[in-house]
Amino acid sequence: MSKMKIVVLGAGYAGLRTVKGLQKKNLNADITLINKNDYHYEATQLHEVAAGTQPAKKISFDVKDVINDNKVKFIRGTVKLIDKENKQVQLKKGATVDYDYLVVALGFESESFGIKGVDEFGWPLVDIKTAEAAKEQLDKNIRNYQHSLDEKDLSIVVCGAGFTSIEYLGEITNRLPRLADSYKFPIDKIKITCIEAMPSLLPMFSSNLSDYGVGVLKQRGVNFLVGTPIKEIKADSVVYEEDGELKEVSASTIIWTTGVRGSSVIGASGFEERRGRVMVEPNLTVPGHPEIFMIGDVSAVMDEANGRPYPTTAQIALGQADQVVENMELAIQGKELKSFTFKSLGTVASLGNNEGIGHSFNKDWKGWTASVMKKGIVDKSLLQVGTPSLLMKKGRFDFWH
Ligand code: NAD
Repeated sequence: MSKMKIVVLGAGYAGLRTVKGLQKKNLNADITLINKNDYHYEATQLHEVAAGTQPAKKISFDVKDVINDNKVKFIRGTVKLIDKENKQVQLKKGATVDYDYLVVALGFESESFGIKGVDEFGWPLVDIKTAEAAKEQLDKNIRNYQHSLDEKDLSIVVCGAGFTSIEYLGEITNRLPRLADSYKFPIDKIKITCIEAMPSLLPMFSSNLSDYGVGVLKQRGVNFLVGTPIKEIKADSVVYEEDGELKEVSASTIIWTTGVRGSSVIGASGFEERRGRVMVEPNLTVPGHPEIFMIGDVSAVMDEANGRPYPTTAQIALGQADQVVENMELAIQGKELKSFTFKSLGTVASLGNNEGIGHSFNKDWKGWTASVMKKGIVDKSLLQVGTPSLLMKKGRFDFWH
């Protein structure tokens, strides 16, 4: 029997975990991994690079450190299109790659919601390059203040108050005292504003936890505007609506973290999608295409318990990857595939290095304990996607810092 061609698109949490699992199996198949960079990055930690509390190399590693060259062919390339009819992937530079089975794990992009000025003036946190660019922008503005003495150079607006924003605020408020010290200006000159459209903050946590988390950030100087949707981003200000009136905050640093969507390759390839996500079958294949698995941020999986799709998280992406590895083997053997089931282990958000909030094991956690849990989660995912040696090099062991 000729060898099956399995192609995995994307080396994020979902894609790399899938390849790690597939290369351990004894499948009669050629496995190819395609990714636009030759490295993997921990998307859940981009806020640290953007805030300047960790260098990019701490949250990234070479794909080659994980894959077995004898079992997996790695192609560095950017996927342009998936041609479902001809079972072929087209790359931006013109090459094509054929598949019998495809695992699409192309991840997320920033969502502008069509708001004017976002693409030109907002700094998103979607990959290493954008996170580093956001840090450079902030540092440049703070340096600039020394001769401009323009207050907007010390003003930061964080758009949205979701997980990424809150974790970014935690990091940046940890670093700002050091920046103020280095550049010799009083810390209270820095203005940090977080603008959220919804009427409440951190609604995914109990009110006790969200009050605690918001309290920690307020104490560090963050001003929250709530129930105030952003309407426009300008070169050095953010326009929002409050009680039917348009208002504006000046800022030279505007961090755009109002949510994400799945890769635009999904829509361009003609999949039935919503915000770049395909509602997959319980076995994680695309409806009508049993040869295509779709996982991670390009997929939506229905949570039967509440009739809504699960939120896209690294935890669910890693679980989906394990199910795809099992289902791939079953598919090749001509057996029936299994349904993916998900039991969340909980959620933790860091608020800088040694503070956090979380809910896990049916309990609320806050402060140092939650921050230790968060570091444990980062370490665990390094093991799930990487190797023990990568964990030793990149892991978080500074529990008492
Ligand atoms: P998100 O969707 O969780 O949060 C975006 C926030 O921006 C929301 O509160 C939304 O109301 C607000 N918003 C949207 N449009 C707005 C507007 N015009 N004006 C003002 N506010 C606006 O997005 P995220 O933080 O990028 O997270 C993406 C996904 O990744 C989520 O599913 C999240 O759960 C997950 N994530 C999890 C963790 C963690 O578990 N620690 C960390 C980061 C991200």
